[in-house]
Amino acid sequence: MAQRASPSSPAGAGYDCPSAQPDMPGARPFGVISGTAGETRIAFFKRSALDDFDWRERFGTTDATRLFRFGARCEEGGCQHYDGHRCSLGERVAQGLPPVVDALPPCLIRNRCRWYAEQGGEVCRRCPQVVTMIPQADTPLNAVAAPR
Ligand code: SF4
Repeated sequence: MAQRASPSSPAGAGYDCPSAQPDMPGARPFGVISGTAGETRIAFFKRSALDDFDWRERFGTTDATRLFRFGARCEEGGCQHYDGHRCSLGERVAQGLPPVVDALPPCLIRNRCRWYAEQGGEVCRRCPQVVTMIPQADTPLNAVAAPR
């Protein structure tokens, strides 16, 4: 795959999950959700947007999941998407969704993102359409979300 950062990411490398739940330890929002149910988009935060922002003071976890994308430490074997070597969800996003941007979006977690480490920049060109709480709509995102 083009722009691949590395051939694989070993277990225990300490990567972050870029589609984390807000109740995971250390979860931190890195983008806000916009668009429509049929065409979701993430607006990626700049670092300054996170200064002095404590989302837990403002939102419950359900509302936060509807509003933000979260990053948190990858749980590896504790996650249904981890196949023992890599994240199968990141692979499905990279292979099953169309690109929605031409260039890599600015992203606060790229240097520790498991999807980027495993799939390279091609997953970043698809990532802005991914939301953790998927709308009930017949979209390509629903097609790749279920564990296999
Ligand atoms: S844009 Fe790329 S680096 Fe950032 S969360 Fe998405 S896949 Fe990871």
